[in-house]
Amino acid sequence: MISVYVHFPWCLQKCPYCDFASSGIRRQDVPQEAYAEAVLAELGRRRAALRDEGLASVFFGGGTPSLWEPAQLGRVLSAVRDSFADEAATLEVTVECNPTSFDRERAEALRAAGVNRLSLGIQSLHDQHLRFLGRLHNHAGALAALRDACAVMERVSGDLMFGMPGQSAAQAAAEAGRLADEGLDHLSAYSLTIEPETQFGALNRKGRLQLAPEEETASAFESIRHALAERGFEHYEVSNYARPGEHSVHNLHYWQGGAYLGLGAGAVGCLHTAPGRARRYRNDPRPERYLETSAADEVEVFEEALAGEDLVREQLMLGLRTRWGMDLDRARALSGVDPLAGREAAVEAAVGRGDAVVEEGALRVPGRHWLRLDSIVAELF
Ligand code: SF4
Repeated sequence: MISVYVHFPWCLQKCPYCDFASSGIRRQDVPQEAYAEAVLAELGRRRAALRDEGLASVFFGGGTPSLWEPAQLGRVLSAVRDSFADEAATLEVTVECNPTSFDRERAEALRAAGVNRLSLGIQSLHDQHLRFLGRLHNHAGALAALRDACAVMERVSGDLMFGMPGQSAAQAAAEAGRLADEGLDHLSAYSLTIEPETQFGALNRKGRLQLAPEEETASAFESIRHALAERGFEHYEVSNYARPGEHSVHNLHYWQGGAYLGLGAGAVGCLHTAPGRARRYRNDPRPERYLETSAADEVEVFEEALAGEDLVREQLMLGLRTRWGMDLDRARALSGVDPLAGREAAVEAAVGRGDAVVEEGALRVPGRHWLRLDSIVAELF
């Protein structure tokens, strides 16, 4: 099975912490139809590789795909579905939405186009934090969008950020709890990280960005985990929580090493080319270049071949982020090599310290150690 990711490369304004492939645009300047045509042209070129495959999930991310007219997004979705021999019995189709380009009417139009899951970029319910993050909405706009989404769509997820300066762990937990109480069935909670190629990165280099102390951020992580557990959410991936059965099919497919086709400016794809081999590529992130070249090979600005140990390491990085860990049989089938070969001593040491367990055919890191996940994975590399 293959998942499809479609990238929409524009936002109304670039947020100062964001290093995603996105740039600011005025609403009226979005090339609605031309972008759909460009994505369809790219799909046409890649279609031959999909004919015998099944479609696992579709995700429209960005950028701000809720700026795309639902009719244009719907054309792309139909063409994606038509390109596969088969699809999951209940195909999960998610669209990321920002409160400033979303309302009930848009939610209904997206549902009519075949979308069945929304992911809302809420980020915070505090106006002061939203301003710090450079967001265009306020807390009232966030709640209105959330209510519209829940009224129309069966499955709604929200993004929440924590670790802002001046935010206490109790505040972060209260926000997560409030969102759960408002009806979300899935929540992604990310700590604010400072990426070098962003406005925040530049301010930080000049020593002009106030940051939250690390202990405060760690304590917010634990408090959010606790608040959501109390409300019946399962912490199933380092940054993701879901009510029973509401995990993101798309993201799980990715974390479990599944193949995915990336379409759109700046999109990344990774397709299996033979047993134990894969090819990862990245499209040109510049929208104007993408619009010109999407139907041609030169739309790709990066590619790499992955084999054997590369694929095991990918699985260590991604699979260990989840509560199920790295499935050893699946990792062996994907990579063509024994995933534990050469790392027996490191695994034994991690298990001895309680940082990892090997059980039921999987290597996993217990959730209570996820704050230290990066260093645990590094030792197993
Ligand atoms: S809205 Fe999202 S994708 Fe767009 S700039 Fe802000 S964080 Fe980045």
